[in-house]
Amino acid sequence: MSAIAEEIKMLNAEIPTGVKLVAVSKFHPVEALREAYNAGQRLFGESRVQELLEKIPQLPSDIKWHFIGHLQTNKVRQIIGKTALIESVDSLKLLEIIDKESEKVKVTTDVLLQIHVAQEETKFGFTPEEYLEIFQSGKLNSLNCVNIRGVMGMASNTDDKLRIRRDFSKIFELYKIISDDSQYDLKDFNIISMGMSGDWPIAVQEGANMIRIGTQIFGSRNY
Ligand SMILES: *Cc1c(COP(=O)(O)O)cnc(C)c1O
Repeated sequence: MSAIAEEIKMLNAEIPTGVKLVAVSKFHPVEALREAYNAGQRLFGESRVQELLEKIPQLPSDIKWHFIGHLQTNKVRQIIGKTALIESVDSLKLLEIIDKESEKVKVTTDVLLQIHVAQEETKFGFTPEEYLEIFQSGKLNSLNCVNIRGVMGMASNTDDKLRIRRDFSKIFELYKIISDDSQYDLKDFNIISMGMSGDWPIAVQEGANMIRIGTQIFGSRNY
């Protein structure tokens, strides 16, 4: 068995039922993805539009592609209809453009709202206040072709396990505030995507039901 297949098998054995594994394949060649596919993996995460578009036609069509990187508004059109889930919606403007482009081609696009709780300012996402505000503002009511499925977030890049746990618990709390509020008619709002190679066990303990693993499966990336 290849090292990639081995890792996927191990992860599947370790991850609790109900937690979905997204194999983050950015910067890795299609051969590596094919090994993962042959080991049964069907969810893949990519972070760059061009790379995603090059990979899609080279791999089997039953793969579900997640977009997990910062998405520029002028590139939205290129990935609509090709991604099962855009995990990294980080502004209302981007959400509105995804809606508009989806409407044009008559599809509904599943998305997650990316929340920024980490200490690094370089990371993208809504602040907790902005996230709550977009629900409270009523601005989502006019969007017909996006389906907001939940939240995505990252913990601070630190060895401080307590800080990591607090970041994940904050993301989960923000998810709960909206999912528990009956004024928002969000019946499909049920995905909490958090946890990467270094911190996914903590994320799962804090309520993640989708984890995004790159390095642990494919090894380190050559940027
Ligand atoms: C690259 C990336 C991952 C995977 O990170 P690893 O540490 O390689 O597991 C997860 N989520 C996002 C948003 C990423 O950009």
